[in-house]
Amino acid sequence: MGKEEVVEGSIWVPEARLREFCVAVFRKLGVPARDAAVTTDVLLAADRRGIGSHGVARLPRYATGIQKGQILPKDASKVVKQTRATALIDGGNGLGQVVGVKGMRLAIQKARQASVAFVTVRNSNHYGIAGYYAMMALKAGMIGISMTNTAPLVVPTYGRISVLGTNPISVAVPTGTEPPFVLDMATSVVPRGSIEVYDRQGKEMPLGWAVNETGRGTTNPKAVLDALAKRLGGGLLPLGGEGEEFSGHKGYGLALLVDILCGALPGAATGLDVYANEKAANVGHFFGAIDVRAFRPLREVKRDMDHLLRMLRESPKAEGHDRIYVHGEKSFAYEAERKAKGIPLGPKVAENLKKIGADAGVPWIA
Ligand code: NDP
Repeated sequence: MGKEEVVEGSIWVPEARLREFCVAVFRKLGVPARDAAVTTDVLLAADRRGIGSHGVARLPRYATGIQKGQILPKDASKVVKQTRATALIDGGNGLGQVVGVKGMRLAIQKARQASVAFVTVRNSNHYGIAGYYAMMALKAGMIGISMTNTAPLVVPTYGRISVLGTNPISVAVPTGTEPPFVLDMATSVVPRGSIEVYDRQGKEMPLGWAVNETGRGTTNPKAVLDALAKRLGGGLLPLGGEGEEFSGHKGYGLALLVDILCGALPGAATGLDVYANEKAANVGHFFGAIDVRAFRPLREVKRDMDHLLRMLRESPKAEGHDRIYVHGEKSFAYEAERKAKGIPLGPKVAENLKKIGADAGVPWIA
């Protein structure tokens, strides 16, 4: 979908202060210090990378989840089965970020021995941005893979109810002097949040984002959101859009693939069953680590990555455009800016955080 605009009236908060605030709120909710720090780190990484929809704005949702007993604050995850190169983790219905970081760490650790490793997770919750976990492999000189299934919002090609999630895929590959390749994408055309933006502005949305309850494309955001809320049908379209003309069936296939690797493989919920049980969402994740040294010296792979990415960036531009990006590049530019300037919080997000802080007895920072 591209980067979100900074909302008018936003305040810019230094990352360190926001970090302290979020950790304190998680601590008050019963999350142990180390896990509060890990969860906060994943949220802040999203904000730094310009993905505010998955950043600290989500803190109230996690807090409500913990308060309602839908997410357990104390990590009870455990490895239930493993081989030299694989592991299956039961997430213990804990915070997705805590379980996710554990899962990816284990994949990296196993790949040091076995060259490649895959870890699947069941009984987890929303884990934030897929890219955080894939990027963990970069420091180890490995390729990282991360996926998760999510609540059903996406309609399969020729269907009329949403059965699959926006099921993101992330793959990160180390480079030399160029920014690393970090593909981090939902497998739907847009997230629900984009439709909500059009609805709030009372505007028609582009055709090709969503279908109504008859399963046909619509430009009416309100109709889609109402039908989704009432479970009447309709929902987001998979990458490629409606039908087969622009290959919606391929996006549908990618979303399904994620649900297979994250759901069917580890025994997590799949399709309509994800989040069906209010007390246990049973979200699943899939993590992979590939040690490039198993194929060639890391230095050579990094050199060839730099060459490939430069070739793309330096190739001729389309009329009206002066720049070709590589996946991850925009996010790294945002990161550099926001490390210096802080994190922008829109008025609504700041208000919600302030309230969640007041409820938990943590003073607001701004
Ligand atoms: P975007 O559409 O913004 O970006 C998708 C990918 O394309 C990114 O790797 C991005 O790199 C890259 N990109 C953007 N513009 C260009 C360009 N012009 N040329 C080349 N590459 C480009 O992301 P989505 O909206 O699909 O997903 C946003 C986030 O939401 C992700 O972090 C995802 O993991 C998360 N998500 C989480 C879910 C969950 O349940 N946990 C569910 C669905 C999504 P760059 O980063 O540099 O912009």
